[in-house]
Amino acid sequence: MSRWYTNPRCSDCGLFTSWDADSYVPFGGAEDTEPDDPRYLCPKCHEQEIADGMERGRPWDHWVKSDADREVARRLGLREARPKGCAWSVWMKELPPPNDIYRSGWEWASPASSGGKR
Ligand SMILES: [Zn+2]
Repeated sequence: MSRWYTNPRCSDCGLFTSWDADSYVPFGGAEDTEPDDPRYLCPKCHEQEIADGMERGRPWDHWVKSDADREVARRLGLREARPKGCAWSVWMKELPPPNDIYRSGWEWASPASSGGKR
């Protein structure tokens, strides 16, 4: 896609939106050689993502999270957590104890929300 000639399309409804619209990058697969392209969300679909996330009771665990994901997480009291030393994260309420797979344990990847309700 040539960023210099056209605006991105919303990944949900297909309408053109702006480059500074909300976006996310999904997790790739083991066979991928590089990360996926960002998916953009127009303002209407951004709001719909928040509504869907609240109905689902969980934001999506994207590799790069959207502002809609962050808003759902904030409302649900979730934070980004990752296995220590990893670049990716998932939404959690509490850090899990170390286990056989992630021996070194988990850490918070995002600061505690400030000013929000607990
Ligand atoms: Zn849209």
